[in-house]
Amino acid sequence: MLHVCPACGHYAPELLFDKEKSEVICPDCGHRTAFPRLPLFLITGSSCAGKSTLTRELFLHNNRVAAIESDILWDEKWRKAGDNFRAYRAMWLRVCQNISHAGKPVVLCGCCDPGQFADQPEAGFFSGLHFLAVVCRDEVLEHRMDRRGLTDPETRQGNLSFNRWFWENHNKTNPPITLLDTSELSPSEAAAQAGRWIDTILEKEMPYGTAIS
Ligand SMILES: [Zn+2]
Repeated sequence: MLHVCPACGHYAPELLFDKEKSEVICPDCGHRTAFPRLPLFLITGSSCAGKSTLTRELFLHNNRVAAIESDILWDEKWRKAGDNFRAYRAMWLRVCQNISHAGKPVVLCGCCDPGQFADQPEAGFFSGLHFLAVVCRDEVLEHRMDRRGLTDPETRQGNLSFNRWFWENHNKTNPPITLLDTSELSPSEAAAQAGRWIDTILEKEMPYGTAIS
């Protein structure tokens, strides 16, 4: 809704941000609209590592955030775009901003990495983008894929490689990715740890709730 200026009605696909004041500036008439800049939480990780289970737990038991799955708007056209999923991520940033405008920070769950969000203008909607990768040890991932009946060797190898990528690169990305090793955790224990990670960031970035200053 921030893309339509309340003063002149101009629709601006590209917005200008004043991050200090938490305002968007209409590129047409210069009108400023205040909005709450909330953090955005991105839960990533390989398939079968446990991120969907964790997100479901947050959805059911953590009413401080709105937990949603990015797969609900997935389409092969995003892969065919060949842009490292940047248009797909930009769309999600807009969706998450519209949801968080209602006052609840969004936890978006789905395979992603910070590079896909780098320098996206829509990241200005948020006080920060925070990445948590749900990972586990190789043999645990193998076991979870067995349990899910995942037999295709290529898919299994892809999941193992992606899972290892987080272990090896989580400190090299911008921003760095926090790891949550679920090898020895039940879904509710994993969700509790993710909840503490979320709460720590909320206390820092939303000490006064969602009030506009
Ligand atoms: Zn305007």
